[in-house]
Amino acid sequence: MSVNPFEMATQQLKDAAAKLKLDKGILKILSQPERSLEVSVPVVMDDGRIEVFTGYRVQYSSVRGPCKGGIRYHQDVTFDEVKALAAWMTWKCAVVNLPYGGGKGGIKVDPFKMSEAEVRRMTRRFTVMILPLIGPEKDIPAPDVNTGPSTMDWMMDTVSMFRGYCAPGVVTGKSIELGGSLGRKEATGRGVMICTRELLKRLKKDIRKCTVAVQGYGNVGSISATLLEQEGCKIVAVNDVSTGFYNPNGLNIKEINKYVETSKNHLLKGYSEKGAEEITSEKLLTLDVDVLVPAALEGQITEKNAKNVKAKIISEGANGPTTPEADKILSEKGTIVIPDILANAGGVACSYFEWVQDLQSFFWNEAEVNRKLEEVMSKSFAEVWDFSREKKVDMRNGAMMLAVHKVATALQKRGIFP
Ligand code: NAD
Repeated sequence: MSVNPFEMATQQLKDAAAKLKLDKGILKILSQPERSLEVSVPVVMDDGRIEVFTGYRVQYSSVRGPCKGGIRYHQDVTFDEVKALAAWMTWKCAVVNLPYGGGKGGIKVDPFKMSEAEVRRMTRRFTVMILPLIGPEKDIPAPDVNTGPSTMDWMMDTVSMFRGYCAPGVVTGKSIELGGSLGRKEATGRGVMICTRELLKRLKKDIRKCTVAVQGYGNVGSISATLLEQEGCKIVAVNDVSTGFYNPNGLNIKEINKYVETSKNHLLKGYSEKGAEEITSEKLLTLDVDVLVPAALEGQITEKNAKNVKAKIISEGANGPTTPEADKILSEKGTIVIPDILANAGGVACSYFEWVQDLQSFFWNEAEVNRKLEEVMSKSFAEVWDFSREKKVDMRNGAMMLAVHKVATALQKRGIFP
């Protein structure tokens, strides 16, 4: 990807700071992570070879609470990407009022080229390398691209072995049997659905008449598609890194979900359906649909393709899918973007619920979790929507202004130590 995500994140912060007339010194503090760690992760591969992978954990801000953010395994992970993702976590937790700061981690690796045992050894070694930084009261990792409950289970077990007691609160997104929360797996996609539904309500558009295209069919993309379909939308296109499908009459999401449950690496390749044609990612992004849900990686909607995007609404399931240049083009065209720090905040909101349940050792049923998530997401949506209209800014700027203001105020109240 040619777009530098940290430059994107910095530009978004600068735009919000200018509108807020933020103190220059405070902006300087908020423009850099508090703490960053780069680690080398040696792994004995199954054939006896030693490989060494580079990993990162970035704590962008702990001003409002412990750092919180996922762990990504991807061949394109860079320090700047992890810094950007950690910054976005900071603003996201603030915009939905969670008592957290922001962090993120990652390893530059293609996990699909490794066996499960190799990934497990890499995860355990990485966990030990970042052990000084993490803990339920300091920094709490969670899943992100190419990581999931098993990754979190291994991390939790590794930390517990070192501590000598079971420490479930150290990560979220774990298996239910280890203190994971019911509803966590679906929470990010559920948040995307709630935000999209709330926006459509305000635009007085019938959700049952809307068409949707979803880029990326992993955790966020597949659940967003499934829940939006349940609300009555027609999902006309989905894709992932292997291929994509378009059916103007609506794809069969149930069949697709069944297929990816057992397909190689849970990819769409090999799926077929009557009336569906294969399409490229570029075509999917520019389809004439009501709602586009980018749910893959950063930098997908850029100044190059933004003018061709026909969707009237973009619900950012992914972090950083739209560049600041593309944002300007979309805003001028009247496209409404529900920004990542709001649209995909359902995941971290439910991670917060999981952490609270773990710390109390008292667990809620799924209906309770979903009710609380609904409350957090619809309230946060309303706050960003009302604020953006009042200030006459787009939703990205509105959400960023609200978030930066909250973090800056907390920072000023705490004061600059010593
Ligand atoms: P995932 O690994 O489950 O899925 C990623 C999907 O994107 C896969 O289907 C992959 O094939 C696809 N993909 C990758 N590159 C692509 C490309 N160029 N074109 C089309 N598809 C492509 O990851 P995820 O957890 O669903 O995360 C997706 C995005 O959502 C990331 O930006 C992540 O940071 C963000 N996010 C995730 C969560 C969460 O709870 N998992 C929460 C908030 C935000």
